[in-house]
Amino acid sequence: MAALLEVNGLTKRFGGFTAVDQVSFSVAEGEILGLLGPNGSGKSTTFNCIAGMLKPSEGSVKLAGEELAGLTADETCRRGIGRTFQIPRPFRNLTLFENATLAAHFGSGGAIDRAEAEHRARDALRLAQLPDDPTATTKGLGAAGLKKLELARALSTAPKLLLADESLGGLDAGEMRQAADMLKRIRDERGITIVWVEHIMGVLLSVVDRVVVLDHGGVIFQGSPQAAQEDAKVAEVYLGPPEARAA
Ligand code: ADP
Ligand code: MG
Repeated sequence: MAALLEVNGLTKRFGGFTAVDQVSFSVAEGEILGLLGPNGSGKSTTFNCIAGMLKPSEGSVKLAGEELAGLTADETCRRGIGRTFQIPRPFRNLTLFENATLAAHFGSGGAIDRAEAEHRARDALRLAQLPDDPTATTKGLGAAGLKKLELARALSTAPKLLLADESLGGLDAGEMRQAADMLKRIRDERGITIVWVEHIMGVLLSVVDRVVVLDHGGVIFQGSPQAAQEDAKVAEVYLGPPEARAA
């Protein structure tokens, strides 16, 4: 299958510190890629460079062959990149429906009318399993509800590529399973390609097609979820050196 996203030699320096170091990977159309790594390994920075929140120091990010490196967040959104934030950022004084409608308007760059924006918003809320009743508010949304709203807002922008950052943060085991199933459904039913960032492997491995593991800003592993679980370097990053592990 053709690559939808191609990341090549991506590097991001903050002053003298290299947070992302020559990272290369590609994502096929319709694939779910898990981008894993411990805290501080460079996952969100990689994300933010792809989505235009940060300008890469070096390297290339191509979506369907078109260079995105250096574009702003609204430009990448209009070219088909939808993203969630690790820390949910809803407009608390707007209803769920207004939050999603606003995202639909933003994602289209004002190219769609109100009816179409509302249609996209309703569809995205349903897909994220939130009420599409226009009066439903953000009040009483727990961690799982806020993560769903992040997804609904990203989906409202009609993305080709969905970047999901730490969708499982703060969720209990049952909610994690639901979140994983939801991402799978988004791909299966809508054909949306997904890059899913997490620092924990768990339930993610049952849903993703392929895994890229980062450590200290560099790629230490790429391959199937099964192979990731058997890889010595991945185990070391997640569990510590063999001699330090409990027998
Ligand atoms: P992850 O998402 O994998 O937990 P991040 O990409 O957030 O990791 O961070 C990678 C490294 O870059 C960390 O050491 C972090 O402290 C550093 N970092 C991230 N953003 C900035 C910034 N804006 N300025 C300086 N250092 C940063
Ligand atoms: Mg992060």
